[in-house]
Amino acid sequence: MPGGMVEARASEATNGGTEQVDVTVVGAGFAGLYLLHRLRKAGFNAIVLEEADDVGGTWYWNRYPGARCDIQTIDYSYTFDPELESAWRWSEKYATQPEILRYLGFVADRYDLRRDIRFDTKVTAATWDEGPQRWLLTTDNGAKVSCRHYIMATGCLSAPKPPEIDGVKDFKGEIYFTSRWPQKEVKLAGKRVVVIGTGSSAIQAIPLIAEQAAHLTVFQRTPNFALPAHNGPAPADRLALLEGDRAGYREQARWSLGGVPWPQQTVVSWQLSDTDRRERFEKAWAAGDLIYILTQLWADQAVDVDGNALLADLIREKIRSTVNDPETAAALTPHDHPFGAKRPCLDTNYYATYNRPNVTLVNLRQEPIKAITSSGITTDKRSFDVDVIVFATGFDAMTGAIMAVHEITGRGGRSLSDVWAHGPQTYLGLTVAGFPNLFMITGPGSPSVLSNMAVSIEQHADWVVDRLIAMREAGFTAIEATEAAQAGWARHMADCSMLTLHRLANTWYTGANVPGKARGVMPYTGGVGPYRSICNEVVSQGMLGFRLTGPNVPEQCNDGEIVRLQPDVRLVLNMLAEMKLPPLESFGSQGARDFVAQFNAARPAGRPVGEVVDGMLPGTDGPLPYRLYRPATPGPHPIVVYFRGGGWVFGDAQSDDPFCRDMCRRTGMIFVSVGYRHAPEHRFPTATEDGYAAARWIAEHGAELGGDSGPILVAGWSAGGNIAAVTCQLARDRGGPPIAGQLLLSPVTDCTFDRPSYNDNATGYFLTRSLMYWFWDLYCSPADRTDPRVSPLRGKLTGLPPAYVVTCEFDPLRDEGIAYADALAAAGVPVEQLQGRGHFHSSFTMVDVVITGVSGRAQMAEAMRRFAGLPEETGRRHEGVPPDRPREVDAAAS
Ligand SMILES: Cc1cc2nc3c(=O)[nH]c(=O)nc-3n(C[C@H](O)[C@H](O)[C@H](O)COP(=O)(O)OP(=O)(O)OC[C@H]3O[C@@H](n4cnc5c(N)ncnc54)[C@H](O)[C@@H]3O)c2cc1C
Repeated sequence: MPGGMVEARASEATNGGTEQVDVTVVGAGFAGLYLLHRLRKAGFNAIVLEEADDVGGTWYWNRYPGARCDIQTIDYSYTFDPELESAWRWSEKYATQPEILRYLGFVADRYDLRRDIRFDTKVTAATWDEGPQRWLLTTDNGAKVSCRHYIMATGCLSAPKPPEIDGVKDFKGEIYFTSRWPQKEVKLAGKRVVVIGTGSSAIQAIPLIAEQAAHLTVFQRTPNFALPAHNGPAPADRLALLEGDRAGYREQARWSLGGVPWPQQTVVSWQLSDTDRRERFEKAWAAGDLIYILTQLWADQAVDVDGNALLADLIREKIRSTVNDPETAAALTPHDHPFGAKRPCLDTNYYATYNRPNVTLVNLRQEPIKAITSSGITTDKRSFDVDVIVFATGFDAMTGAIMAVHEITGRGGRSLSDVWAHGPQTYLGLTVAGFPNLFMITGPGSPSVLSNMAVSIEQHADWVVDRLIAMREAGFTAIEATEAAQAGWARHMADCSMLTLHRLANTWYTGANVPGKARGVMPYTGGVGPYRSICNEVVSQGMLGFRLTGPNVPEQCNDGEIVRLQPDVRLVLNMLAEMKLPPLESFGSQGARDFVAQFNAARPAGRPVGEVVDGMLPGTDGPLPYRLYRPATPGPHPIVVYFRGGGWVFGDAQSDDPFCRDMCRRTGMIFVSVGYRHAPEHRFPTATEDGYAAARWIAEHGAELGGDSGPILVAGWSAGGNIAAVTCQLARDRGGPPIAGQLLLSPVTDCTFDRPSYNDNATGYFLTRSLMYWFWDLYCSPADRTDPRVSPLRGKLTGLPPAYVVTCEFDPLRDEGIAYADALAAAGVPVEQLQGRGHFHSSFTMVDVVITGVSGRAQMAEAMRRFAGLPEETGRRHEGVPPDRPREVDAAAS
C-alpha cells in the first residue's frame, strides 16, 4: 500500500486537539466544493474550512440588489458531472445571486459535502512544519488543523477593500457593503441613499436602488464601460449548441481563450468598412454577452490600441444617446482605458437610470469627497444629507484573501508577505517556491478573473488533485516549485501582458485600486486554453519546475522554464506543428515558392498606407520589379530600399508586404521592396548584384519616387538582410550610393554552420538547419561561400553606415547576426542590437499574428528615423517602447 494511503488512515485521528488530515481546503465556494468532492473520491481525508456559516463563497456574501453573474449561466456552471448538469436547469440567461446560491447548496447536498465543511471557521495563520512536512493551520475559533497539503480556495474577489474615506465611523445612518450585504431585508424606500463606486456590483445595484430610494446619489471616481445584459431565458441558439453536443461544447470551452466556446475571430478592424463594423457592433450590443463583445467583433480589438478605439467610440456613442443630460453623459463616459482593459460590466438600465429625476451623479474627479460626517458626505463643493451609504468599492482582488491569512510561513521561516512584498510571485498561479504543498486555486498568475471562472476552477482543482494522486502513487509527500521555474513564469506573465491592453489600465487586475499595493497585471492574459496546455505540458515533461520529495524515494527535480517562447510565438509554432507539414525543401524550389505564396495568402492583409505602387527598375541584366509603399503623410520622405527574405530562393512582392506596410507607417518613410532574382535559376552573386544595382538606381531616382534629398537607407530580412548588409559594403567600395543606415533583421552573415544557434534551433522553429543548408546549396557553391558578397562577416567592416541588428533567440541565424553586430561595433560602426527573447526567425515579419513583435518593430522604426535624422515618434509609446531605451534592448521585456 502506498505510503500516502497509510497516512490517510492515520490522519483521521485528532492529535492533542489538532485535527489531522491529508488535505485542508480553505473556502467553500465554487472551488472548495468541487475540490472536496474530488479529493474524497480520490481517497484523501480532506476537510474544508469556511469563514461563513454556509456554502456559496461569492454567492453567499454578495446579496446586494441586482447581484447576478455576467457570464451566461449555462457556461458559468460545473461541468464535471453530466448527471449534475441534467439535474439542474437555470431559469435565466444570467442567474440571480439567490439562484446561484441555491445551485451551490444543491451541489453540496447532492455530493453530501457539508459533513466535512467546518463553517464559521476562519483560517488566521498557516505554518509549514519542516520536520513532519505538514502545514499547521490556526483559526479564529481556536480550532487547529494539521495537514499534508493546504489548498487555498479563498477566492479572487472575496476580500472586500475597506473604504478610504475619513469619518466612516462618525456616520449615524446605515452603512452597507455590496460585498457583505446582510441576509435580512434592507429597506431603502423613502430614504436618501448614496452609492460609492461604479464597478460591476454598483452598476448592477444602482438601477434597483434608484427604484426604491427617495433619492440616490452616485459617487463616481472612474467611469466604466457597461453593456446591456438583455436578460431573459438562455438564448435558444446557445442552448441548442450545448444540448446538441454537451461534451463537445464543454471541451471547446476548456480550450477557448475566455472559457466560453466562441470561435477565434480572424478579421481585423481595418479590413472592415465603417458600415460592417457598425453592423457587427450593433449585433453584439443586442446580444448582451460580455465574452461575445470582447472577442467576436474584430481580432485586433483586445490587442491593438487603434482597433480597440474603434469599438470604444461606438460604446461611447451609445452612452451619449442614452443619457439625456450631456454633462452627466460625459462624466459617465470612460476615456482613461481601452475597452476590456478594465473589467467591463453588464447592466440592466444602468445609463438610463441617470435620466430619473431622483438620481444624481457626483463626479469625484471634479469634487473629491472631503469627509463622511455624522449626517452625510461632504465634497469640496457641497454637502449631502444621507440616510444610507452603500459602499460598492470592490475587492482587494486576487491576493487579498491569501494575504489575509497572516502569516503564511513557508520553508525556512519565510513569510509569504515578504516574498510577495513587490507583487505576487507564483509558478503557474498555483504554487509558490519556498511554500511546499501549498496550492492556490485561481491564484495570481493564472487566467482566473479574465476567464469564465467555473472553467478555470475545475481545471485548477483537477490539476491539483491529479498531482496529489500521482504523488501518492510514487511515494512523494512534498512538492515545491523551483525558483527558476517561478522566475520563468514571471517572465512569461510579463510577455503575455504585452499581448493585450490590460497593462494600459489602472484597475483591480493590476492592483491599482488598493493604495500601496504593488502594481502589475496579476491574472494570466494568455488565455484559458493555452494556459491549460502549459499546465499539461508541465506534467508531460516530468513535473518540470517542481521538486518532489518523499521519505522512501529519491528526490525528483526536473528544473527549468516551461515557456521560453513568446506566448504568441508558441501558439504559431504549435499550430504549425499540428499541420505536420513536410520539410519545405522537399517541395523543390518552385514547389516551395508556390507553397509559401499559398501560406502567405492566408495571413492578415497588411494595413493601409498612403499609396502602393508597383514598378520596374533597370537591373544589371534587365528590369527588376519593385513595390513602393508611400506613407499617408505629405512628402517628400526618406527612402528605405528593402530586400525580402526567402533564402535567395523565394520571396515576392506579397511575401514581406505586411512588414513593409507596417514599417512604412511606423517610420513615415517610403519603402521600396526590391524583386531581386532567385536561385537556383540565378546563383551567386546575382541576388547581391541585383540588390546593389537596385539600391543605386533608387538613390539616383529618389526625387522621382517622392524621396527627400537625403541618402537612402537599406533594410532586409533573412537573406534580404544579407543583401542589405552586402549592399552597404559594396556602396562603400564602389563609390556610393551614400547610405544613412542599415536595418538587418535576422540576417545571414556567414557561411559557417557551427555556431551554437545552428544546433540549439536546428528544428522546431520553422526555419530549420536543413532548410538553410538547402538554401546555401541552391544559391552558392562551396568555393564561393567565403566571398564577402555572401558572407559579409568576412568582409571589411570599417566605414559602414550605422546599423540596427535584430536577432531572435530561437533562430539558427541568431549567433551569426550577433557576431556581425559585434564585429561592426569592433570596427567602429555605430551599432544597436535588439535580441528578441523568445522570438523565432519570422516573429517580426508576422505582422498582426505575432503581436509581441510590435514593440520590436517600434524600436526598429525609431532607429531608422534616427538614422534618417527624423524626430522621435512619441505617439507609439504605448506599444512598449520605453522612454529611456538602453543601447541593447531585450525586445520582449521592453
Ligand atoms: C458580484 C460578483 C459577480 C461575479 N460574477 C461572475 C461571473 O459571472 N462569472 C465568473 O466567472 N466569475 C464571476 N465572479 C467571480 C467569482 O468570484 C467566481 O466566479 C467564483 O465564485 C469564485 O469561487 P471560489 O470558490 O474560487 O471563491 P469564492 O466564491 O470567493 O469563495 C471563497 C471562500 O473562501 C472563504 N474564505 C476566504 N478566506 C478564508 C479564510 N481565511 N478562512 C476561511 N474561509 C475563507 C470565503 O468566505 C469564501 O466563502 C463574480 C464575483 C462577484 C463578486
